[in-house]
Amino acid sequence: MGSELDHRRLYRLPWSLTDNVISWLEPTKECNIYCDGCYSANAKGSHKTLAEVRRDVDVFERFRRTDAMSIAGGDPLVHPEIVEVVRMVSERGLKPVVNTNGHGLTPGLLRELKRAGVAGFTFHVDSLQTRPGWEGKDECELNELRLEFAERVAEVGGISCAFNATVYEKTLPRVPDLLEWGRRHADKVHVLVFIAFRAAVPERFEYLAGDEPVTLKGLTYTRAAPQRTDITAQEIAAEIRKRFPEFEPSAYLNGTEKPDSLKWLLTLLVGDRERYYGSAGPKFVELSQVLNHLLKGRYLGYVPPRVHASARALLALGAVDGGLRKTARNWLRAVARNPLLSARPLHLQSVMIIQPVDVLEDGRQSMCDSCPDMTVHGGELVWSCRLEERLKYGHLMRLRPLPSPKAFDRAPAPGEAVD
Ligand code: SF4
Repeated sequence: MGSELDHRRLYRLPWSLTDNVISWLEPTKECNIYCDGCYSANAKGSHKTLAEVRRDVDVFERFRRTDAMSIAGGDPLVHPEIVEVVRMVSERGLKPVVNTNGHGLTPGLLRELKRAGVAGFTFHVDSLQTRPGWEGKDECELNELRLEFAERVAEVGGISCAFNATVYEKTLPRVPDLLEWGRRHADKVHVLVFIAFRAAVPERFEYLAGDEPVTLKGLTYTRAAPQRTDITAQEIAAEIRKRFPEFEPSAYLNGTEKPDSLKWLLTLLVGDRERYYGSAGPKFVELSQVLNHLLKGRYLGYVPPRVHASARALLALGAVDGGLRKTARNWLRAVARNPLLSARPLHLQSVMIIQPVDVLEDGRQSMCDSCPDMTVHGGELVWSCRLEERLKYGHLMRLRPLPSPKAFDRAPAPGEAVD
């Protein structure tokens, strides 16, 4: 594989607006820490009632099939009735996956959530968060916290454990370190998600809500210090491949305006705690998505930990999938050199790289085609990454290129709350 990934050689994930792998439920906008890359304003006391949450779930059910429901925010664990929210989602036959910074996850709450039917946790941990007790820690130092969460979830058992991190210009070189950490704990860490940092670019564009120019002051996406806002999934994958040539992406979602951009880029690695032997290929992803849809009427989202732990059985699918064939060959060669390896379990670890909204030169915004993270606002499905625009201005913003770049003060206005 060359350094540039060609989308035509990958499997286009079959998800659509009305039939998708996940949806994005926000029971609250309140959060208990601050993250530089967050799209959402921190609104204290903004918890929805259970009746409001139920109405949102009804809207999802009316408009789309979904396998899993990301329960996000804000931080959903600050919602006083989070256990009931998880139960409600589970009782509808959806897999509830709690997207949290983990700060509020006590062992007691974790057990309650398990009883309510939680299927997974996605912990957002990265070094540009202001997290009590972990200030100033770099990405690698935060592995101690990540491991604490992973062990806590593993102890309860049967729950998928994912970690996501926003990738900033300065943390891009650390992505392979995170992956290496994940591999060492592949028995407990099932999914890793890397999300390229994005922010508004008022230095180059005029922002309009309807026909009215808006200042963007106070909008969450303008707060982080000036830095790159155009990191691509290709770059993140290339950074990973410098250390892990076995990292071979298999599937993607394209951009709405740029068909060859890789907005969601999926890689399924097979390995043990010491090394990766290879990645599943496009045919395997196609087979698992189509088969699940045929048998269960839904595309496949989160799977239980036991599926991640049974990667050896999947190697037989090398008969139809070139990626698994190559992986099996690499593993057998390693076992021939060291027969003790055959006693080690093989794990399947998913890595998703997300490249959110891209602003094109002419001001068009390229979104993830078939966005899995649609949320509900006013009875409609809306992109969760741009919900703030609807809340603040009543419209999605349009961008008009400025004739020449201008300065923009990203500091919060006096008296303006910082999330
Ligand atoms: S369009 Fe926005 S909300 Fe949807 S998946 Fe992409 S980044 Fe997430």
